[in-house]
Amino acid sequence: MRFLGKVWRFTHTHRIITPCRSSTYSSVGYHSTGVHPVRATDLTSKSLVYMGDNIVNFYAGQPPLNRLSFHRNSAEKLNDHLHAENARFILFKDFKPLVHAGEPGKTLFLSREQVKSHLGGDFTGPSPEDIGNKDRARIHESARLPNTVPALVFLGIDDRPSASPDSVPATQDPTAPKGVPYFALEVKTDNDWLPEGGEWGDARASASAMDGWEAGIFAAGRAMVDWNARNKFCPACGSPTYSLWGGWKRSCTTAISPIPGKEPCFSLKGLHNFAYPRTDPVIIMGILNEAGDAMLLGRQKSWPKGMYSCLAGFIEPGESFEESVRREVLEEAGIQVGPVRYSSSQPWPYPANLMVGCYGRALDGQDIRLDLDNELEDCQWFPRSQISALLSTSTGTHFTRADQNQLDRATSDKETEAALAPSEKTPEELERLVAQGKNQLVITRVPPGTAIAGKLIRIWAEGGLEVVSKL
Ligand SMILES: [Zn+2]
Repeated sequence: MRFLGKVWRFTHTHRIITPCRSSTYSSVGYHSTGVHPVRATDLTSKSLVYMGDNIVNFYAGQPPLNRLSFHRNSAEKLNDHLHAENARFILFKDFKPLVHAGEPGKTLFLSREQVKSHLGGDFTGPSPEDIGNKDRARIHESARLPNTVPALVFLGIDDRPSASPDSVPATQDPTAPKGVPYFALEVKTDNDWLPEGGEWGDARASASAMDGWEAGIFAAGRAMVDWNARNKFCPACGSPTYSLWGGWKRSCTTAISPIPGKEPCFSLKGLHNFAYPRTDPVIIMGILNEAGDAMLLGRQKSWPKGMYSCLAGFIEPGESFEESVRREVLEEAGIQVGPVRYSSSQPWPYPANLMVGCYGRALDGQDIRLDLDNELEDCQWFPRSQISALLSTSTGTHFTRADQNQLDRATSDKETEAALAPSEKTPEELERLVAQGKNQLVITRVPPGTAIAGKLIRIWAEGGLEVVSKL
């Protein structure tokens, strides 16, 4: 980052939106004469402010449920929703959604009557003697005990007037809406129950075939069931955890049953990030060349054949979106990026990411290199004409169920791969990876529009000049 700071000098304050102008490349580095990132402290009232387009991506609610988060700590309110006759449940087993048999893109929502023997009871609140004791009351707020009951998460209310026109007014108070309550329910792996007319869908293949509204419920439900499943033990002391707040909080069981002779677990005091569901931000970027007529796309070896996509990576602590884009592109492709512009974001429930979509501009004349972090099998600049042609074919964004499952496996393999630091790779392995990167592989597919990478690519390919002018 020190070097980039030199390249894109943080000295000019007036060019926030204006298009990139001339830049030159010399053997000693880049000398940009047109575009410079701007520090917040440099902004003046005369600065231009860019308001991005409002893009709603797949997996974001279309529209979202009204989550009514302020009901979560009230067992009484949550049980009212749970016992409502119209309540609906989306089920997950091994993080796979229950869908209609033979129709993997259609969620099979069940009623309370259909799931009641698998719920594991209602939400419980403080006992009468605890109500006057704030600390005691807090550890029982909409709890689910014992800690072995299946995860049950209150997702919110579908308050769209069109969802049930007989009972929902056209306009209503968003703080007290009427509508259909939705819950996500975990079905334990050892439970053989398969509701009539249903099957467990492959997560990514099923979800990508859902309509946008159902995909929003799937995304929230899957991420929350996953979070509850992965956090069964307290990170501070190793004791089991239990569910509170309608599935949106977990706490150490030593809050209820202190261990004699031991100090209270430190997870029970102060502000920390143990108790609440996490969303891990991932930066994903369409990097353009200087003229804006080519995009930098890469592929991992584990991806389906011929698929290239935008570069991406986790945002690290202490980084802004813009810094993260520049670091990732440098690490993965050896390319330095100047201006960066946020485009839109997408919840990505595999397992709980928020994809932050950006565009960035790189200067021409740089060599792609893959040997810095060895994450990519290949990376190339692709002309807009080539990507447009690809998008116009029926196969250019087509992925079979097997491809989708391969991508799911690639994601989990990547987690394993990430544990192996570059420094732990042998020189021979590094050499082999570099050699592979020099192969000119053939692009035949880019992600579909249900993935934000596919959206970033399309927006540029189909209306590229607008994107270029804003960078
Ligand atoms: Zn603990």
